[in-house]
Amino acid sequence: MGEGRPGVLIAGAGPSGLTAGLELCRRGFSPRIVDSESGPAPMEESRALGVNARTLTLLSPSGVTDRILGVAQHITHFRVRSGSALLFELDTGRAAGAYRAIQAMPQGLMERLLLAALREYDVEPEWNTRVEAVAGDPTEPVVSIRHADGATESVRPDFLIGADGAHSVVRKSLGFGFPGEALETCFYLADYRYEHPVDARVADIEVFNPGILGHLPVTPDTLRYISTLSDYESRIVHPDKVVEEVWRSEFRVHFRHVESMSRGNVFLAGDAAHIHSPAGARGMNLGIEDACWLAYLLSEGRQQEYSSLRMPAVRQVMKVTYRLTAFITMKNPLLIGLRNRIVPMLLRIPPIGTRLLRGVAGYDTPPPPWIAGAE
Ligand SMILES: Cc1cc2nc3c(=O)[nH]c(=O)nc-3n(C[C@H](O)[C@H](O)[C@H](O)COP(=O)(O)OP(=O)(O)OC[C@H]3O[C@@H](n4cnc5c(N)ncnc54)[C@H](O)[C@@H]3O)c2cc1C
Repeated sequence: MGEGRPGVLIAGAGPSGLTAGLELCRRGFSPRIVDSESGPAPMEESRALGVNARTLTLLSPSGVTDRILGVAQHITHFRVRSGSALLFELDTGRAAGAYRAIQAMPQGLMERLLLAALREYDVEPEWNTRVEAVAGDPTEPVVSIRHADGATESVRPDFLIGADGAHSVVRKSLGFGFPGEALETCFYLADYRYEHPVDARVADIEVFNPGILGHLPVTPDTLRYISTLSDYESRIVHPDKVVEEVWRSEFRVHFRHVESMSRGNVFLAGDAAHIHSPAGARGMNLGIEDACWLAYLLSEGRQQEYSSLRMPAVRQVMKVTYRLTAFITMKNPLLIGLRNRIVPMLLRIPPIGTRLLRGVAGYDTPPPPWIAGAE
């Protein structure tokens, strides 16, 4: 699995696993990546849509950032409205880094760009290949894998990365706890494609009492709507003739994270280690950040520092996302009225607006020390 480098097995070829693979390749490893699905996330399921500035910084050494910037929708403004009244607008360039706070691009496209970069190192995930269990001492993990034809294999990697998503077999096999809570509130998503290109530069949120309805671009002619209201469709004012409802989803939000992201030579990254609401668009970005840190630490022989270095970042993102979610899912009409009056006033104070934007950009966790001058 590697020429002079330890062998690394990565369970899961989502954004976290693919990023870990790519960053390890860049550092001279030849990781093996297995995934139970038949290929990357379908292009029509936009899933995680926001690519933040920190992710662009992290993926710049591999060249993926240039490819993202060539195809993503560049969001120039966040706008919050109450009906036709504009409550506030923030220029995403005020995050004051090398990139705007956030770009929009469907998760399937992100995965395909990472796969293309991995191919340059002759690494291709093994699809339809499932990790069934991890046994043994975590310092010498024994991984049971089932191939598409039903054949089984037992692998003993030097390092195992569990990037196998929220229901992680790696996490469960090793008995990591995953404490947290499920919120009552549901989130509703729907992507609509229009006859002509629409305004793809704005992330727009309309506040109601109660509830919110937001939209942001998926592609130049497709918008993602996200809402906390079950009757959200009746509130959408489409900017053009709808050609197709491309995708829809609804889910209850969980806030959960492990207490430690490693045990012996087994490491967790991404949704396998932490899940939270989509408010703030941090999910996929945090997993990509985990993966980059882990690859860096493995290459430095400092992998035992991974959990202690990442857990503060995970807790920070959980805290911020939880607050933001509580803010947008409020039900008390008086508090909602107060929120809708006070928050716009606060955000017009420049340092407060900039602070919010820097959180969206992902700049509230430690910068990567291996990238000179990184935010
Ligand atoms: C329907 C949906 C909508 C979403 N919407 C948003 C959103 O709007 N905003 C947002 O920020 N986030 C959203 N997310 C979450 C976002 O997709 C995740 O945060 C992100 O994908 C995490 O990446 P990951 O690589 O850690 O995990 P995943 O993307 O879940 O990837 C895990 C990979 O592991 C593979 N796998 C699982 N089990 C095994 C096994 N036993 N053996 C081998 N492979 C395995 C899976 O096939 C998958 O490819 C959404 C997720 C879903 C499912």
